[in-house]
Amino acid sequence: MNHLLSSLPQVDKLLSHSALSEYAHYPFLKTIIQRHLESIRQQILCPKPVSIETQSPLNNVQEIPSLDSLALQIQEEMKRLITPSLKPLLNATGIVLQTNLGRSIFSPKMMQRVLPLLCEYLNLEYDVAQGKRGERYSHLSSLLCAMFDCEDALVVNNNAAAVMLIVNTLAKDREIIISRGELIEIGGSFRIPEVIKGSGGKLREVGASNKTHLYDYENAICDESAIIAKIHKSNFAQIGFCDEVDFEDLILLARKHNLIDYFDLGSGFIQGFKTLEPSILDIMKLKPSLISFSGDKLLGSTQAGIILGKKELISKLKKNHLLRALRIDKTSLLILQETLLAYLNQDYDLIPTILQLSQDEKTLQNRANKLLAMLQETIPHLQSRIVKSKAKAGGGSLPLQDFPSYAIAIEIQDAQNFSHCLRLCGIIPRVQQNQIHLDIFCLQERHLDPVIQTIKNAISMLQNNA
Ligand SMILES: *Cc1c(COP(=O)(O)O)cnc(C)c1O
Repeated sequence: MNHLLSSLPQVDKLLSHSALSEYAHYPFLKTIIQRHLESIRQQILCPKPVSIETQSPLNNVQEIPSLDSLALQIQEEMKRLITPSLKPLLNATGIVLQTNLGRSIFSPKMMQRVLPLLCEYLNLEYDVAQGKRGERYSHLSSLLCAMFDCEDALVVNNNAAAVMLIVNTLAKDREIIISRGELIEIGGSFRIPEVIKGSGGKLREVGASNKTHLYDYENAICDESAIIAKIHKSNFAQIGFCDEVDFEDLILLARKHNLIDYFDLGSGFIQGFKTLEPSILDIMKLKPSLISFSGDKLLGSTQAGIILGKKELISKLKKNHLLRALRIDKTSLLILQETLLAYLNQDYDLIPTILQLSQDEKTLQNRANKLLAMLQETIPHLQSRIVKSKAKAGGGSLPLQDFPSYAIAIEIQDAQNFSHCLRLCGIIPRVQQNQIHLDIFCLQERHLDPVIQTIKNAISMLQNNA
């Protein structure tokens, strides 16, 4: 064992190795070499049982790799390190607001409007007329108030931040009344009960998981009560013997008892596609105390949490010191501003999420036909055909609503393995009944050539692995 250890090369030998010369100017090259040598040292001192899955060259070191092969291993590691980890993907899942894939995407045309502002100084927190400090929240509030006919508006980092800020400011050490049917968990372990506790509020659960009545809320009201909240069920729906109280009735109840009503809408939307759910404007017509929603769900903009409602309450939110930690950054603010203006001008070309959700079936069918023809011409031996499919809004919105769509179904042995290759090559498919489905819903015209190229790459990868 000792002779193995002593034959490990010196750090300097590797530092000056020709295979690493193009990485010599990275200050951390030495650290990477040291760590690599250390992990080999550890393997010699306490070998781990070999598992079939780990293909690390360091498993059970019987002899020290040569200097050249060590240099190549470190070269690979350096290459991986400096390659950007974030990369574009083709979304063939048929889910528009895939949280794991970055939710809403932006249009290049909109980004062209935002870019010049990002490359210069701007009046983010500067009042030009007065020559003194201004407020970053002021830029969008009058536009939001005009659009949604409310007293005031505040935009924060995301909707989770909006919920925390509202609870922490207005229900700290006091009770927030919520139906048991709405104590939801959304992805990324955001759970309403935990968020309320973490924000300093006390959750007062009412009703049963399937049914909550107005009297359940009314009976729970006491001196401790601060907020009556409704939480959008987001990514799930109840069917059968179930009932909930309309927000309208909760507003009246809150008003009667001098409490605050609040609706966490989750994914609020403005307009531009067909759905039976009420829009933000529909809800604002009820004159609620406060509502909040995400910027990058059905709104189709950037990550943001938008709070609308009564001026008196929003002034309190603005005075909370937490706001500094939850504030929106200038990039998001600029993108949100452009999205809101696009809605005003009904310029949906600028909002890809809305374009996608309003696609008609004929367009989708034509695009699927075109993709299939391209595929059959390029890779004739591949078994492929068009099937009907159901696209989804995703992102914890419209769980019951399907959007009619089409997919290319590929029949192939070992669909799971092929799906793995497709993902590595940059396209995310659905695997259904051991077939690969590439849904056309989130693939635009400009994606069709890249899709074909990616499938070709994935087939080569599959064959090389076989
Ligand atoms: C998505 C969602 C949130 C969190 O919003 P983010 O913008 O992702 O932080 C909160 N509440 C509900 C009901 C949601 O659907």
